Amino acid sequence: MKTKYKDILYQDIAYVKGIGPDKAKILNEELRVFTVFDLLNYFPFRYEDRSVIHSIESINYTIEYAQVKGIITNIQTDTFGNKEVLIAQLKDATGKIDLVFFNGIKWLSKFLKIGKSYIAYGKVNQFRDTYNIQHPEIDEATDEIIQFKTGLCAVYNTTERLKKSKWKIDSENIRRWIYNIYQTYPQLQITENLSKEIIEKNKLISRQDAYKFIHLPENKEQIQKAQQRLKFEELFFAQLDIARQHKKMKLSKGYVFENVGELFNEFYHKHLPFELTNAQKRVIKEIRNDTKTGRQMNRLLQGDVGSGKTIVAVFSALFAIDNGYQVAMMAPTEILAQQHFQTISKLLQPLPINVKLLTGSTPQKERKIIHEQLTSGELHFLIGTHALIEDTVQFKKLGLVIIDEQHRFGVAQRAKIQLKGDIPPHVLVMTATPIPRTLAMTIYGDLDVSVLDELPPNRKPVITAHRYYSKRLDVLRFVKEQVDAGRQAYFVFPLIQESEKMDLEDLERGYEELKKFFPSPQYTLVKVHGKMSNEEKEAAMQAFYSGKAQIMVATTVIEVGVDVPNASIMVIENANRFGLSQLHQLRGRVGRGSEKSYCILLTNNLSEDAKVRIDTMVRTSNGFEISEVDLKLRGPGELAGTRQSGMLNFKIADLTTDYPILKAAREAAIDLLEKDEKLEHPEHWPIREYILQNEKEKPLWIKIA
Ligand code: ADP
Ligand code: MG
Repeated sequence: MKTKYKDILYQDIAYVKGIGPDKAKILNEELRVFTVFDLLNYFPFRYEDRSVIHSIESINYTIEYAQVKGIITNIQTDTFGNKEVLIAQLKDATGKIDLVFFNGIKWLSKFLKIGKSYIAYGKVNQFRDTYNIQHPEIDEATDEIIQFKTGLCAVYNTTERLKKSKWKIDSENIRRWIYNIYQTYPQLQITENLSKEIIEKNKLISRQDAYKFIHLPENKEQIQKAQQRLKFEELFFAQLDIARQHKKMKLSKGYVFENVGELFNEFYHKHLPFELTNAQKRVIKEIRNDTKTGRQMNRLLQGDVGSGKTIVAVFSALFAIDNGYQVAMMAPTEILAQQHFQTISKLLQPLPINVKLLTGSTPQKERKIIHEQLTSGELHFLIGTHALIEDTVQFKKLGLVIIDEQHRFGVAQRAKIQLKGDIPPHVLVMTATPIPRTLAMTIYGDLDVSVLDELPPNRKPVITAHRYYSKRLDVLRFVKEQVDAGRQAYFVFPLIQESEKMDLEDLERGYEELKKFFPSPQYTLVKVHGKMSNEEKEAAMQAFYSGKAQIMVATTVIEVGVDVPNASIMVIENANRFGLSQLHQLRGRVGRGSEKSYCILLTNNLSEDAKVRIDTMVRTSNGFEISEVDLKLRGPGELAGTRQSGMLNFKIADLTTDYPILKAAREAAIDLLEKDEKLEHPEHWPIREYILQNEKEKPLWIKIA
């Protein structure tokens, strides 16, 4: 008996009452729904409360949507302007109301019959002192229909193509098919995939009930319980995967950095240009501890812009080099790689360490030398861009990989590094994009996390202001005062893919305009954008680094990591066009020195979302707070660089709101692995079975990570 019901779940939807082969085909194509179980996994996104049948007498302006039942007493057609309308009068024991239709009139005039009983649902409309209902859904009021129609009705997403198909497939069709499934197989079995203990501890309902209630709830409590259960389940298995992955990584062998050696000590005692913050000291210790265990380190270092991650990277590198290993550091852009190279080679200059830069524009001759020195081991510290993980780069003894500004790097790229060599190098991932805890748990669940939660001393907060373009001249005057006092300023223009050409013109125009306001020879302006050659970019950056240029006009190429402490003003043009995390990154370019710094957000009139973004920027400079707002505005899938990770495509869970469930699911997953890692205990068989079944469909990242 049981197997039979199991088979039903995997039956082709063509056999579901009401579907048939033609509709099945379009459902396959549009919704990727093939089997009965696929259809049951197509969850509704909201519910309509149709539990009340309103008496016609009770309808007034306080009721937005009304459901009425009665007999049609009159049907007439009319024209409004040149539009035909059909008005059907419905009468119940308490009164009469007009149902007004603008579409499908031909069909309706056949379907509706005077004297027959109907049930209708639609928006209440006031017309002078009477009410009517405009183009309601209308059905014959048979017992079966009333049972199906009234109550809490699940609403499903459909697609344009479904709606425009000859069957006009809408949410109600989907609900009807699912209803039919449960009518035909009232005892439909859905195998439990959680253990009794987890179910009880988290007060969950059974999987069987959850599937029924999510589609055909009898009350709101059932909806809530079904959602809770299904979200938990989804997050639990995701977390279980991540936790197992994490455990496996913890078990993967790693190089032992035996000693804190001479280089480290000499640098720490003699050449360190500032006192480390306590947070920096703590994180360096964490890295030290990781790298002496004989297990591979996989650590994420989260630190807001300007928190001083670079020096942490340098100390980590010294651990490796002191122990005879090589270090690779990767940045997402050439500018950043160059900057790291400059900063780091300057810091390490007093020490006998060979640091080199490898990017797309490294000349062939230099490239050859680098390759040779890498294989011979002469080269200790290689800094570069993505090019570093190209297969041609061979190290003699790569012990540590540092990835800066992780959000530009995909998980897959990280995985590629892991595959270099028999024993994988230690990995330190640094990110300045503060990630809300919910996301960090999900995306980086396989990494240990360190946080630099303290800024270097003497940092003054950046003063942030929003100005409309009508005040642009005042802003320019202010910038001039600051520049005259010896500061440097950025003007950043938005540049997004689709309208790149227009944006570039905007930037050029802005640049010319600013040149008029800041005339040479008194002032020097440079510009940097993606369409320039690397040499041009480098020359411009160099002029700004050295202080020769006071003003840099740029696109977001300077968004990440650029560090010029004397630059104290950031003017963001058309700031409404930037995302929150981008704005925060941009603002992070100033406030790096000891001077008072300013960030000015220039806009025209603001949309609602843009207003929230701008207000948030003005209100706070806390990166975590900003990322929470960003998450709410954009949803997790849109957060910088997370989309391609493929880990956020949850069917029902919503990371912006389901943090408590995520937390419980994560605890349950970790607890389970502690108790019974191999899931051997009979109590855990349902979980194991479910995992085995789903193994095939697992996203790629888990396999390669
Ligand atoms: P980020 O975390 O954004 O990468 P950086 O490593 O670029 O930050 O550091 C920002 C600036 O702060 C740099 O100019 C760096 O020299 C300086 N800095 C870092 N740590 C300290 C410290 N402990 N005390 C003073 N200045 C520091
Ligand atoms: Mg940095």
